[in-house]
Amino acid sequence: MQYKSQGLTIWLTGLSGAGKTTLGKAIVQKLQNQNQKVSLLDGDSLRQTLCKGLGFSSSDREENIRRIGYLADSLTREGKIAIVCVISPYRNQREKLKQQIIPFMEVYVNAPLAVCEQRDVKGLYKKVLSGEIINFTGIDDPYEYPLNPDVECKTDCETIDECVNKILTKARNLGFINLSC
Ligand code: ADP
Repeated sequence: MQYKSQGLTIWLTGLSGAGKTTLGKAIVQKLQNQNQKVSLLDGDSLRQTLCKGLGFSSSDREENIRRIGYLADSLTREGKIAIVCVISPYRNQREKLKQQIIPFMEVYVNAPLAVCEQRDVKGLYKKVLSGEIINFTGIDDPYEYPLNPDVECKTDCETIDECVNKILTKARNLGFINLSC
């Protein structure tokens, strides 16, 4: 089986440690194996480059997402698949992106806060506990979960493979990716 596609943005939103980057990388791998033109836009990396200098106030967070959205839109218009992994905590802004970027799939990468804290992949929750970091999404800064995502992955009870298959199957069923044998 081969995945064929036009442009598409798959936007993964969720708390820090929920599994966005892990799933994003797995999706990229799977699509690249099918010779698809796919780019991973990862929030942590982009904060070192395109979004360097932005902080975590609500206006800086909005600017961060605006820039990443612009890049995803450009890639999508060029016929590429953009896989975006950013917390993107604000519902309104994600709704705007849905209007702006076509086609666009919103994926809610959902793990309970307690699970994210326990995973603490980047050691950030520990820093929040010690007071070294403030305004952390899900703790003392809001995370507005999607009300009607195209896909929801519950990463505390679904495997990485199950999540990836769910996302790509939905993309195919929505007509954004064609499967050809
Ligand atoms: P985020 O990008 O959302 O901050 P990461 O992908 O960096 O999160 O970290 C998620 C962690 O959860 C990784 O250590 C990953 O191996 C683990 N994990 C366990 N199950 C899953 C799953 N089903 N999907 C994604 N990640 C998972």
